Amino acid sequence: MNKDERIELANLLFPNIDKTKEDYENMYSERNLSEGAMVTRYGPSPTGNVHLGNLLSAFCDMVYANQTGGSFFLRIEDTDQKRMIDGGIDNITSVLEDFAITPNEGYSYGGDYGPYIQSERTEIYQTYVKDLIIEGLAYPCFMTEEEEAEIKEEQAINKVRIGIYGHYAADRDLSLEEVKENLSNGKTFVIRLKSPGDPNKIVEFKDCIKGKLKFPEHDIDTILLKKDGTPTYHLAHVIDDHLMHTTHVIRGDEWVSSIPLHLQLFRVLGFKPVKYAHIAPITIKDKETGNIRKISKRKDPWFGVKYYDENGIPIEALHLYLATITNTNFEEWYLQNSDKNISDFEFSFKKQPVGGTSFDEDKLNNLCKTYFSRKSGEEVYNETLTWAKKHDEEYAKLLENNKDDMIKYLSIEKDGPRPRKDISKYSEVKEEFSYAIDSMFEKENYSKYDGDKVYDIDLINNYIDNYLDLDVDNNDWFNKVREFSIENGYAGSPKDYKKDPDNYKGHVGDICEAIRVMITGRLKSPDLFSIMKVLGKDRIKDRINLYSKFISK
Ligand code: GLU
Repeated sequence: MNKDERIELANLLFPNIDKTKEDYENMYSERNLSEGAMVTRYGPSPTGNVHLGNLLSAFCDMVYANQTGGSFFLRIEDTDQKRMIDGGIDNITSVLEDFAITPNEGYSYGGDYGPYIQSERTEIYQTYVKDLIIEGLAYPCFMTEEEEAEIKEEQAINKVRIGIYGHYAADRDLSLEEVKENLSNGKTFVIRLKSPGDPNKIVEFKDCIKGKLKFPEHDIDTILLKKDGTPTYHLAHVIDDHLMHTTHVIRGDEWVSSIPLHLQLFRVLGFKPVKYAHIAPITIKDKETGNIRKISKRKDPWFGVKYYDENGIPIEALHLYLATITNTNFEEWYLQNSDKNISDFEFSFKKQPVGGTSFDEDKLNNLCKTYFSRKSGEEVYNETLTWAKKHDEEYAKLLENNKDDMIKYLSIEKDGPRPRKDISKYSEVKEEFSYAIDSMFEKENYSKYDGDKVYDIDLINNYIDNYLDLDVDNNDWFNKVREFSIENGYAGSPKDYKKDPDNYKGHVGDICEAIRVMITGRLKSPDLFSIMKVLGKDRIKDRINLYSKFISK
């Protein structure tokens, strides 16, 4: 076809497109940003629930844009309408909000480079494709899906590259008359790229994370517009990131193999390519096989981000974990600068892992424990209440009704150089502090006790009635327990006991253990005397009664 014929063809295929690409180029003017400012975007498809890998890439988008004074925007990539899930878009925006990953602009945030949802940009894509048709760089392809499947099957049998290229691209050079005839016969079509690539040539490319990569040139006539006139991911990505002036596309490395196509699209459309940063997948050592594998929706509960919300992983700790897997030197920096914020750290693509990053639950738990240990009892109370209001209403009510006591319990062992480090999730507050709320303790009773001893109730009642003074300090309290122990045939210390075990019934630690089990139902708890102080004598006695009922069952 000559140019006039191609113009006729373009008008025939896109009768409603009256803008030109220049119109859009003028509409989406350059951003006014300083040198080095990064413009990043999170481009989720509402085809499934947000997972940890998505969150990691959005986190990277945010930190790189923020630290360079650029912009981070949210673009909904809903080109695959068939795979859209109900509530998928709301899920994306609420996850960003819940996890404090805050775009500067984008879908539901506003901005000058919208619409930030691809289904509202069809005309834009068609305008550029119309221009490619005129330039002879794209063409309508009338091949049916069955025909294409047959070709791919044949290619698989013959062990040649799969796709529509070379002689397989039968509609590449149809004449205008042939196209018109197909159209008048009601044949449907897609628009394909007329790939100018030569697979014998090599493209060299530098990924910000992976470094230098080499690929054969792309020569497949990839679909640009589907039968319904909507774009494929490839076309939409290139046009949007050009018009929205994205500087860095940070995305999962499942897209690495598409780089030659994307670079070619930038070239044929006459755009300056973006910089790419392909993030290594999050991996895990499979418990069954011992092999390293990608984290999986089916096998790993922490794959979907819901897990973090439902279990009550504090956002700040999760951000620290994401920072740890984003840059290999973050963890060490944070150890030395634990009073600083993530935003004080300078992230760099060079420090981003190139292979897989393994998911380390212990590391995440430790970060969470440190987070909780640094919060005051009142802060832990307030945050747990916020979490419970969303996930456990019944517990939220209990928390509200027992506010003063709860804060006192949560404040135990918070002062001093080594604050208590036992909680790693909001959901664990309920577990760990169940003895703090009378009604919960009554219900749970001694079900958490996993020892096999039966403790002497009379002995402990005697201690509570005659020796316990709750108004003294910890030292005086303990001296008194020791005195009581010795008077009742127990050693005053484990050391004394060990020297002559036959001479004693046990030691002071056994007396404390008995009290602890009776009032908390478990063998381990924060500082015993502090718990006794919050409970007060009457409630301590109530619990001893409960214990006596429990053992007499
Ligand atoms: N919509 C694509 C996805 O969800 C985004 C990939 C990209 O960031 O370019 O996988």
